Amino acid sequence: MSSSDSSIYTTLKSYWGYDSFRFDQEEIISGVIAGHDTLAVLPTGAGKSLCYQLPGLMFDGLTLVVSPLIALMKDQIAGLRDKGIKANGVYSGQTKRTQDIILDNAIYGQEKFLFVSPERTQSHLFRTRFQKMNVSLVAVDEAHCISEWGHDFRPEYRLLSEIREIHKVPFLALTATATPKVIKDIIANLKLDPVKKYISSPTRPNLSYNVVYTENKSTQVSDLTHETLRNCIIYANTRKACESVTRMLIAQSKKATFYHGGMEKKDRESAVKNWNKDPANIMVATKAFGMGIDKPDVRMVLHYDLPLSLEAYVQEAGRAGRDGQHSDVIVLYNRTDINKQSKKVEENYPEYDYIKDIYAKLAVSFEVAAGRTDIEFYSFNLPQFAQKYNLKKIKLFNALKILHQEELIFLSDAILHPSLLKLDEQATKSLLKNPSLSPSMKDFLLLILRMYENLFLDKIVIDEKQIAQHFSKPIGKVKDGLKWLDRNGIGNYKPAFDGHTIAFGEFRYRSEELPMNLDAYQARKSKFMADLESIHDYMATDTCRQRVISAYFGFETEDCKICDNCIHKYESEPHELRKGVFDLLNKRELTISQLFGKFKVGNRKTLELILAEMEQEREINIRNSIIRLS
Ligand code: ADP
Ligand code: MG
Repeated sequence: MSSSDSSIYTTLKSYWGYDSFRFDQEEIISGVIAGHDTLAVLPTGAGKSLCYQLPGLMFDGLTLVVSPLIALMKDQIAGLRDKGIKANGVYSGQTKRTQDIILDNAIYGQEKFLFVSPERTQSHLFRTRFQKMNVSLVAVDEAHCISEWGHDFRPEYRLLSEIREIHKVPFLALTATATPKVIKDIIANLKLDPVKKYISSPTRPNLSYNVVYTENKSTQVSDLTHETLRNCIIYANTRKACESVTRMLIAQSKKATFYHGGMEKKDRESAVKNWNKDPANIMVATKAFGMGIDKPDVRMVLHYDLPLSLEAYVQEAGRAGRDGQHSDVIVLYNRTDINKQSKKVEENYPEYDYIKDIYAKLAVSFEVAAGRTDIEFYSFNLPQFAQKYNLKKIKLFNALKILHQEELIFLSDAILHPSLLKLDEQATKSLLKNPSLSPSMKDFLLLILRMYENLFLDKIVIDEKQIAQHFSKPIGKVKDGLKWLDRNGIGNYKPAFDGHTIAFGEFRYRSEELPMNLDAYQARKSKFMADLESIHDYMATDTCRQRVISAYFGFETEDCKICDNCIHKYESEPHELRKGVFDLLNKRELTISQLFGKFKVGNRKTLELILAEMEQEREINIRNSIIRLS
């Protein structure tokens, strides 16, 4: 053992309390200490943080860590500080003064680790300070974000190599999932040269991969989240689905929390906290929930909707079983799912003609003549525009996004304009005295007058939901009432909308001559389609699912023996299963999902065949999903 070898063990033991390294940790760490640019692809939970933290600790200078999420940074900073190691981070939400102090401390050697977001490294303030720091290592965490071919592309990551010019120090790029294409992209982009690569297989021998076809997802979710199940995550694609699945679980007296990007930050944080401390809590989330989750004993990751790519799926499913214990990962799907996904291609990547047409319609609607070069901003109401031209909102929005990416228009982020109401004092008072006014309208008027003072003075912000609660009527009724007042000249009601502003780019083109980088667009579209295909192939396969995943990442493995297809092939003794079914039904009738719940998820395929057989042989009969012995 060389002296550096022995000292990395000493450091590992004294700071982390571990006796040995895992996976390729030791080689990676020694290489980084020897000054090599390194790319490490290690599965989630393998211990990537240690790969930069240990060398960083041993180097004299500072280690800069680029990380995509504040929550991730905070966790790492807290972890290091717990070990008595100086660490800090600059991120949005801090005052400029705080950032100043932290950056200064880093210059004067007060910090051992400095965490930043990729966009932070672009700022002038950061660049000038960074120059003065004594830097030994730059670590790029979640490095797959660099690549457009990855599942979580962050354009800011592409500019990271610029900071290479400032300090000639080793770069270490870390990620859990990367296809061969993404790996190439990371290396090229960060200019890792020469690079030492450590790429481990994405195989997770303790995960049982399953795909379950069902026309009733809710029932499946109820059955799969039985009482004995600990710690699970359910992924759904929409906020609405997250909320409704959560409501359903709560109605079944289960503990469930939801999490999605539309929630306030503090609500998201408390959802995570809740889930973290309670082993029986089910997290129902969109893909916004993920990076940085460190719960070791998640026993099931259930996909309520189809994932958008195999890569994203592996990442999400990989949050199960980080402790190495057996865990089930399951994708639910029904007949319409695949169709819905194909529609997504059209919605997300509209054809060139459609985009040109939208551009032309915008020009007409804002009366911007071809050839004009001045930039003027127009307020833009997407739902109204969609309605006027009879367009699908999602498709329209995506066309606008593409025009924006091509800098042919500028589309501001949506700002929610709240609902506004003003009432005319005269008209209101005479309406209230009008004997033909319906009693409920009268109550309604009196209620809003009580709820909002100053309605006669000026337009004020109102909340239809709140009114509806006080009025004990559905929100639609409230809106109808307000519209009625507006129509009849009693007041002025402007319902809320997600407003954008739009400007034409430098030059207003004739729509037939719209200069678009079609190659890039086409490439993105192909990538999107290839991603969908990867998940479809995964769903459709009847070979080992673990092998399909490994092959996708460029590895070859043996059959896992625990996925549904392997269980079907190796394990399910149809015989014994059939006897099991018979014994259960002999005690009492069961619904199909109750019956399935008594067996391993991976047995479903065989069970379905057995049930069909038993039904045909008139051993059982199935009516309204209830099975009983004949
Ligand atoms: P990753 O970033 O690869 O998903 P982390 O760096 O967050 O994983 O590490 C996951 C867990 O594994 C952490 O709790 C960490 O302390 C632990 N760990 C890392 N290296 C070792 C090791 N050599 N021995 C035991 N535990 C380790
Ligand atoms: Mg990590």
